[in-house]
Amino acid sequence: MTQSKLPAGLHPDTLAIRAAAERSQYGENSEALYLTSGYVQPTAEAAARRFAGEEEGFTYGRYGNPTVSSFEQRLASMEGTEAAMSTASGMSAILMMCMGLLQSGDHVVCSQSMFGSTIKLIGSDLAKFGVLSTFVPQTDVDAWRAAVRPNTKLLFAETPTNPLTEVCDIAALADIAHKAGALLAVDNCFATPALQRPVEMGADIIMHSGTKFLDGQGRVMAGALCASQQMVTEKFLPILKSGGMTLAPFNAWVVLKGLETLGIRMKAQSAQALALAEWLEHHPAVDRVFYPGLQSHPQHRLAMAQQSRLGGAVLSFSVKAADPEAARKRAFHVLDSMQVLSLATNLGDTKTMCAHPASTSHGRMTEAQRQAAGIGQGLVRVAVGLEHIEDIKTDLARGLDTLS
Ligand SMILES: *Cc1c(COP(=O)(O)O)cnc(C)c1O
Repeated sequence: MTQSKLPAGLHPDTLAIRAAAERSQYGENSEALYLTSGYVQPTAEAAARRFAGEEEGFTYGRYGNPTVSSFEQRLASMEGTEAAMSTASGMSAILMMCMGLLQSGDHVVCSQSMFGSTIKLIGSDLAKFGVLSTFVPQTDVDAWRAAVRPNTKLLFAETPTNPLTEVCDIAALADIAHKAGALLAVDNCFATPALQRPVEMGADIIMHSGTKFLDGQGRVMAGALCASQQMVTEKFLPILKSGGMTLAPFNAWVVLKGLETLGIRMKAQSAQALALAEWLEHHPAVDRVFYPGLQSHPQHRLAMAQQSRLGGAVLSFSVKAADPEAARKRAFHVLDSMQVLSLATNLGDTKTMCAHPASTSHGRMTEAQRQAAGIGQGLVRVAVGLEHIEDIKTDLARGLDTLS
């Protein structure tokens, strides 16, 4: 798809608004939404060349669409990669990455704090097809290095993580991967390219759930992989064609428009999250706050260096309690006392959402696994939105101030 002509050297904030496929003959200012599954071919010869991959041009909706292409060009330009390939969801982006890069007998190293479905997909589902994996502590660089084997093809990291906002050193992991002849992929959902561009620290593949901050208003599912043109064309496109995890044009259009405000949203929501984290840290009913923007966060300096000096929009806190049972009751009391904020496990929305990880997103783990991961019964996760900060505090104080 021909890209609209832009001068070189534009800032990511500008690319977030201007990078897209060429305008149609009608000169629309807002990018067009092309709802079509098929494309009329100019001649039989041209169709043959397009199907053979010898000529640019759309042939079928599963393989490509101009609106989808606009989203891919915009996201790639923001991440600083040559190309991107979008998918129907974040999980299908991970599936595409693994199917494109791995085969039976290959080994992957991941953090044990990765998104739950990622651990299930790589650790269990792909294990059925002979993909081997090792899960290591997120912040322990030596453990990542020690886990690498001769057949290791991929290191896959997520930073910051959900829900404890643990940060890993992207440059250090890129070094370990490349010395081993492997690739480093980074799930950049939480920081987004507005705060963190892993490619600049040596990552080879950036994975996204567009469902979160890229959309930004909780409307559609989407996913993407950003990488070199060669990797996208040779490794990911064949999987898209046969696997069919295609992003719908309407969803692509929503996320494309979401990218235009990503920068200001991430700055504003990070500022809100920092204010809330500082307030929570001083609340007498709160035991501990997990937020990379706080001085008390174990990787505060690394996070600030990696994430444009911002902590992101997700934080967690634990309520003080004598034992796990009391902790669960108290966390539930805080959540059930809310009158404005959403009790929801999603994130990346303008609406603030609060959840209890131990009984929802991490509910399928055993208590011992949860303890090892540090996800206690008193933990509450807050994905901070754009409501007035005083209203957010007041809504959480309803429960926090009335714990018996
Ligand atoms: C939500 C999420 C995913 C999965 O994305 P979906 O769009 O829900 O498939 C992967 N990684 C992280 C960090 C997420 O938050």
